[in-house]
Amino acid sequence: MEDKVFVFTIGTAGSGKSYFTSSFSDYLDFKKIDHAIVNLDPGADFLPYEPDVDVREWITVDDVMEKYNVGPNGAQIVSADLIATKAEDILDELDLYSADYVLVDTPGQMELFTLRSSSEIIIQTFGRQNCVSVFLFDPVISQRASGFTSMVFMYSSAVMRLNIPQIPVLSKADLLPEHDVKRILTWSRDTDALYDDVSKEKGLSRDLFHLLREAGLIRPLIPVSAKTGEGMDDVYDIVQEIYYGGEDLE
Ligand code: GDP
Ligand code: MG
Repeated sequence: MEDKVFVFTIGTAGSGKSYFTSSFSDYLDFKKIDHAIVNLDPGADFLPYEPDVDVREWITVDDVMEKYNVGPNGAQIVSADLIATKAEDILDELDLYSADYVLVDTPGQMELFTLRSSSEIIIQTFGRQNCVSVFLFDPVISQRASGFTSMVFMYSSAVMRLNIPQIPVLSKADLLPEHDVKRILTWSRDTDALYDDVSKEKGLSRDLFHLLREAGLIRPLIPVSAKTGEGMDDVYDIVQEIYYGGEDLE
């Protein structure tokens, strides 16, 4: 195979992007599939994996604060924008690895990557046709129908901005009681059930809800857990399906 497949993790702050990256890497190790990990978070203090390419080699939030004399929030934005200037360098470093898969961990705050031009530039440089993203639904926010629907809006913004295939997952499924996981999965598969429950909580406009539904933005979630490894095989199967029509790399 010539091309690498880039698997981005996308999600709100603390949704489990870095831990998912780590757990998915463990799964690929187990399957003996060559892969590399790229950390694109210039603000990471700690990573639960050893990155093969680390954007902090070139850019860190602390350095940006000092160099540009900006506060922590400004430095987050500037450094997240600057990572785009390193897209080619990242690709050059990746040439050293014979990796079929490249797992790409993104900056903590979703909007710093997804809503800004850095994501566009990086996806273009890596090759849009080789990129897919795993979108993590935060389990605590998703526990209520209105929270779940809000996550669908966040997911929709990622779909619109990134313009690459997205695999929506319920993150940290081990944290929730089983009946909560079941309810969330039901909402993701049965939009009538979701509409009933969200209507009981909040007066969400019917038109807006139908828009989400008709646009196919309410998609079945895959429950995953970085702690137990649940769902990693399902995510892998879907990526395979998208890129190789289900052919196994083993
Ligand atoms: P990020 O900001 O999206 O990269 O989030 P992290 O991956 O750093 O995870 C945020 C927090 O959630 C950390 O404290 C992790 O220990 C915890 N966490 C992440 N994934 C899981 C999981 O699958 N199960 C449980 N129980 N905790 C998790
Ligand atoms: Mg992280």
